[in-house]
Amino acid sequence: MIIGIDLGTTNSLAAYFEEDGAKIIPNRLGQSLTPSIVSIDDEGNTYVGETAKERRASYPLQTAEVFKRSMGTDKEFKLGRRKFRAEELSSIILKSLKEDAEAYLGQEVTEAIISVPAYFNDIQRKATKKAGELAGLKVDRIINEPTAAAVAYGLYNRNESTRFLVFDLGGGTFDISILELYHNIMEVHCVAGDNYLGGEDFTDVIFQLFLEKQELTLTELEPKTVAHIRKQAEKCKLNFEDNKISTMNCNINGQMYDMELSVKEYELACKPLFAKLRKPIERSLKDSNIKLADIDEIVLVGGSTKLSIIRRFVSKLFGRIPDTSINPDEAIALGAAMQAAMKERKDYIKETILTDVCPFTLGTEIVVQRHGKFFEDGHFLPIIERNTIIPVSRTETLYTVNDNQSSLRIKILQGESRFAQNNLYLGELLVKIPPRPAGMESITVTYTYDINSLLEVMVKVNSTEEIKKIIIQNEENPMTEEEIAKRMEELNYLKIPPREQEENKLLLFRGERLYEEATGMHRQEIDMYLRNFEDVLDKQDLDKISEARIKLKEELDSIEEISML
Ligand code: ADP
Ligand code: MG
Repeated sequence: MIIGIDLGTTNSLAAYFEEDGAKIIPNRLGQSLTPSIVSIDDEGNTYVGETAKERRASYPLQTAEVFKRSMGTDKEFKLGRRKFRAEELSSIILKSLKEDAEAYLGQEVTEAIISVPAYFNDIQRKATKKAGELAGLKVDRIINEPTAAAVAYGLYNRNESTRFLVFDLGGGTFDISILELYHNIMEVHCVAGDNYLGGEDFTDVIFQLFLEKQELTLTELEPKTVAHIRKQAEKCKLNFEDNKISTMNCNINGQMYDMELSVKEYELACKPLFAKLRKPIERSLKDSNIKLADIDEIVLVGGSTKLSIIRRFVSKLFGRIPDTSINPDEAIALGAAMQAAMKERKDYIKETILTDVCPFTLGTEIVVQRHGKFFEDGHFLPIIERNTIIPVSRTETLYTVNDNQSSLRIKILQGESRFAQNNLYLGELLVKIPPRPAGMESITVTYTYDINSLLEVMVKVNSTEEIKKIIIQNEENPMTEEEIAKRMEELNYLKIPPREQEENKLLLFRGERLYEEATGMHRQEIDMYLRNFEDVLDKQDLDKISEARIKLKEELDSIEEISML
């Protein structure tokens, strides 16, 4: 079975397709969202999701998050004694989702379609595929997140032709895409976004307001206190849902600090963030040459679009109420699952053909002639312009600039800058040229960008007909099949605790965090609750454990409420 996976920066989730539609797969805790957090202790016990999130407070040095941002880079995350790359940490999340899916569906899951942000470059997409492989999942297809969301909406859309604007605001990223469904063809017209703008920034506004109002300075606070205030700020943000006024309570060194925040005041403080949201929206409309009036549906995706101030912002900006008939947390995973079903050619799902755009400009470095005489190097020649519909193939002819030039180096670059050095280097090809006077020899360079976002570059020396090709790989870290197999084995050393123990672990870590946050009497109380629970765990009687678990949960809930931790 092929499942669809939304591997998010903040939260990840999986979905599958059944005759009556796409459905979310609950994780081992029965929740649909699995926080994209990994925590590993010194024995190699590995915690994922909510459990890792609970463990983060007490073991920050053994816990990693927001690693999706570093996908495809050399950055290493240190967890205790071990080091991991972003794709390895992602593979731990994927493995956990795979296990949850297998347990829930009662069958083996060997393949997945994973969604990635539309602006992900080739290296990042490859790293995502590798993460899948390391988790034991075949990943033939990567789907753009907005495309998946539009597929989820489009399938239920009865109209023959619909233009969508997908507004995706997650934890730390913002994506805007304009797509069109025509008969059964889903075409992406353009993508834009901001890789450093998301729900966390909206939490930060509350956090800053709190510090200001309480006259606290960040540098004077202990890291644990800062973490506590951030947590309360996040809670306060989530509470805005139905209340006009949200309150925030913090316990700082035994003293209570309260803040009341009205939606109006919050909205005002978020003004700079709204200005930042506006930019990519304007750019996407300009790039695609589409007028606002021509957009049929505005689709909201991502957890942060549940914020009422965001909904109001979108409604005002577009002059209409956005469509939220699908849970914004779930749309991408559902769309990816539909795509998986199409791949399996399930006959009860009408195939939607996806066309996509190349989210960035691909080109090469050239020298340009200045004042008709001297040459200046370092210039960028775009070959495939951003937001060109893919698959696409474009050819450019380049000429030699020196007499008897014996070779030509074609650098493959990605980016929007006029200057080569400001763009991302993806690879290069070197071809031999027969010695002739300048300008008498030429090469043709062909860039082909396929539906899976793989870039192939072909260079032909026109006089000799010699051809060289390259498929762009992550040059900095080419991993062989063997190395992947070896790393997979190493990752297998990590011990994922049995699924049925997950809730116990979650409660124990939560207790540990509460103990650290509390003082005096509450501490003793928590300690007693935890010791009682551990005693029951030792006896290994499943019924008793389940009873004790319910009791401990109630006890911790009440502690958390009383001390307002
Ligand atoms: P990502 O795509 O980055 O994985 P998500 O789409 O899961 O992220 O969104 C996570 C963000 O959504 C977090 O910043 C969280 O605070 C925010 N969020 C989730 N639920 C709500 C809610 N009810 N109200 C406001 N913000 C929310
Ligand atoms: Mg997302």
